[in-house]
Amino acid sequence: CFGVSGMIHIKTPEELAKMREAGRIVALAHDAVRTSIRAGMTSRELNAICERVITEAGATPSFKGLYGFPAAACISINDLLVHGIPDDTVLKEGDIVSVDIGACFEGYHGDSAWTYAVGEISEADRRLLQVSEQALFEGLKYARAGNRLTDISHAIGEYVFAHGCSIPRDYTGHGVGREVHEDPAVPNFGPAGHGVLLKPGMTIAVEPMVIAGRPQTRTLKDGWGVVTRDGSRTAHFEHTVAIANDGYEILTTLKKEEHPENG
Ligand code: MG
Ligand code: MG
Repeated sequence: CFGVSGMIHIKTPEELAKMREAGRIVALAHDAVRTSIRAGMTSRELNAICERVITEAGATPSFKGLYGFPAAACISINDLLVHGIPDDTVLKEGDIVSVDIGACFEGYHGDSAWTYAVGEISEADRRLLQVSEQALFEGLKYARAGNRLTDISHAIGEYVFAHGCSIPRDYTGHGVGREVHEDPAVPNFGPAGHGVLLKPGMTIAVEPMVIAGRPQTRTLKDGWGVVTRDGSRTAHFEHTVAIANDGYEILTTLKKEEHPENG
């Protein structure tokens, strides 16, 4: 019952229905983060909100235990790019906080990250968030059947570089479905016209990770958190989408919208 293209699983309508529900639950958790985040709370408290929303909706947190990750959400503050472990760090006014959330519903995963402002943030950070969020949608303009995978990558990279930001070398988006991470890897830069031919029913997580300064990163001693070497700030915007004939469908959303695109 699975169409398979290489190692890429084409989802059936029944599977897409489960992924829609997984994605809706991820979006519910983001909604809770958006309305709760404030200076004075800890990243551990924010993680607890995510975990509660996911479990109360009848799903399980995809990341908890994934490769040994200890929490429901990755919470990465300021120069932390990805894979921040929630802890007793207190959020401060002016922080930018990337929250990456996965939920598994009836065996299917949704995966979405968003970067939130804590109170008033600097103009430079506001711009970083705008560029990073728009980079996601610039890439998604090319998410449609008949295009090549790296058409998405190229659009993201060109947009980010044109706005004077950088992209880390070693982190990509990915296929998503029965596993959180499936083939193919979805790079965030590079030449267009390469990689798999996009087909209806492919489900991918597109996730630009954007750095305001230089692209070099290092991993913290905890073995998880990835920070920028130059201390510059970072943002991360991700949606799980299903490829359609005439565009894409965002699965990690509470809104029901069609996204036909002309990429
Ligand atoms: Mg994610
Ligand atoms: Mg992801």
